[in-house]
Amino acid sequence: MGSVLVTNIGELVTNSPELGDESVMGRLYDAALVSVDGVVSWVGSAHDAPACDDVIDCEGAAVVPGFVDSHTHLVFAGSRGDEFAARMAGERYDGGGIARTVAATRAASDDELRRASLARLAELQRSGVTTVEIKSGYDLTVSGEARLLRLARDMTVETTFLGAHSVPAEYRHDRDGYVSLVAGEMLREASAYARWADVFCDEGAFSVEEARHILTASRDLQLGLRLHGNQLADSGGVGLAVELGAASVDHCTYVSDHDIEALAGSDTVATLLPTAELCTRSPFPNARRFLDAGVTLALATDCNPGTSYVTNAPLVVQLAVTLMNFTVDEAIWAFTAGGARALRRDDIGGLAIGQRADAVVLAGPHSVDVAYKASSQPLRAVLRENALLAL
Ligand SMILES: [Zn+2]
Repeated sequence: MGSVLVTNIGELVTNSPELGDESVMGRLYDAALVSVDGVVSWVGSAHDAPACDDVIDCEGAAVVPGFVDSHTHLVFAGSRGDEFAARMAGERYDGGGIARTVAATRAASDDELRRASLARLAELQRSGVTTVEIKSGYDLTVSGEARLLRLARDMTVETTFLGAHSVPAEYRHDRDGYVSLVAGEMLREASAYARWADVFCDEGAFSVEEARHILTASRDLQLGLRLHGNQLADSGGVGLAVELGAASVDHCTYVSDHDIEALAGSDTVATLLPTAELCTRSPFPNARRFLDAGVTLALATDCNPGTSYVTNAPLVVQLAVTLMNFTVDEAIWAFTAGGARALRRDDIGGLAIGQRADAVVLAGPHSVDVAYKASSQPLRAVLRENALLAL
């Protein structure tokens, strides 16, 4: 791939305090960076930049690390727009709509699923996302969950087995049988294609005991752990995630002070999903409770057909700032470095030397525009693997 000099950067956010101004954001002005074979090899003042094979002139625009979307359900078929309309007309979301997506996904061919998922992935990439996690969970059979993960693995290494997304209709009268299937044969088949395991642990979904059983079996097969927790109620998911050392517990809409304390003393990231609250008209968790206690936060799109059909990273950042009390810097950090921590990755989420040169070139000179300019396209280009995607 050779070397690329990205120069004339008005404001460069590296997320590396030792670079730049010693803030958490590691800011430099009038900066440049060098990418060799897709990895950052040099960062500094534009005046001191070394010669490279190619040059990308940012013309004074700001550059931030590529967004790390650590929570999506990208592989699915069908639409639930009518359910969204009904919910907006006053019906409360209880997770029951997953069955409709399961029916549509089971009926779709590999080609149909691949085409629809790649289109959504392209939308995410155009919004600045350079790493994406993708969950299964819309088939809920042994071969079907493996199929979804196989398709997802062609799009990312960050694939997550979510057989415990919902109990399918055919197991309505044998809930324990389904939990055993998920923790047994389904998990074994899925583990060939998955890096992570996840459970929808909540009121009306899977209990803490069921989730513990499935996640413990997953850990025995060397899968990393994540959890959907406390989206619909203070249901014990956060405590379980901390107990099991999960990389991330996601949603955290209803959390107690005890949960916050447990998270603060752990390596588990709390991933907040503002567009899921937005599209279900749920209360927005107050990020200050987490941040002030020292909890590491991530932000993600939760792209899914039922509760957050969103492929727009800047929108997520803007909502986090306007409705969850993140500062702009904290929100950008959470969707870059925070997302990387939620995936236990240190090669992404920042632009320090040795990290991947995945970066977003903004349209203007200030990083605040990610959150500020939501009504216009705030991004100009995305850099990944030394290739520039112009927007
Ligand atoms: Zn989700």
